[in-house]
Amino acid sequence: MNKLRFLSIASGSSGNSYYLGNSEYGILIDAGVGPRVIKKRLKEIGVEMDRLFAVFVTHDHYDHIKSVATLGEVYHLPVYSTAKVHRGIAFNCKVTEKLSPANKRLIENGATVEVKGFKVSSFSLPHDASDNTGYVVEYEGLTFTFATDLGEVTDQLCNYIGKSDYLLLESNYDETMLKNGSYPYVLKQRVASNHGHLSNAEASKALATFASNRLKQVFLCHLSKENNTPDLAFQEVSNALNTTTEVTVLPRTTPLLVDLK
Ligand SMILES: [Zn+2]
Ligand SMILES: [Zn+2]
Repeated sequence: MNKLRFLSIASGSSGNSYYLGNSEYGILIDAGVGPRVIKKRLKEIGVEMDRLFAVFVTHDHYDHIKSVATLGEVYHLPVYSTAKVHRGIAFNCKVTEKLSPANKRLIENGATVEVKGFKVSSFSLPHDASDNTGYVVEYEGLTFTFATDLGEVTDQLCNYIGKSDYLLLESNYDETMLKNGSYPYVLKQRVASNHGHLSNAEASKALATFASNRLKQVFLCHLSKENNTPDLAFQEVSNALNTTTEVTVLPRTTPLLVDLK
């Protein structure tokens, strides 16, 4: 069995990027930090850039796509996302380098592609981007679900939570901190809406209801710097889950490497 490793390169509103790979190669989910950071973090775990075989993009907010064009044009990585997200990336004025058609790959929500033994299925998530995608990655019997930047938990996501061995789930804000915090009213409404972000309470509820005994570890991602703390997120989700599931809060800007069992 070729064991998998998961590396969180960065997680939060200042950049998101995750690596999932075996001992030889892997894929990226999102590329929202600079290409040099991605290269450095991968090198630290012994992975050169030519060992990457694809990047799957969740949505076209800048904290998820910063390096997408460089990964395509310089490193010749195929960049997968929906047609709407590709259009959103093309028109995003913060992305100065553009992705050429040769490096664009379409994966519409509901589709499955296989890249070097990684079977990746996509599903729709509600968020205020051009489109937003969750990914379920299956590899040698392990199922790892990625769900970030979502206003609410959908039936489809609940179904995937029940079938996952590993789960990356947004736990963006504490509802009281958001309510009492310094964000302008309109922004508070945006974050809390069903096309905004997922709160600790919403993540906990979904996990308490739908996580199965199969779930080994949940990675809480995209925590707000202003409206959450790692301790609050950890406590709320841990209280909701059974004792066999490990809860890990992903750091915002420092890497975290986990060997998957
Ligand atoms: Zn984001
Ligand atoms: Zn977003």
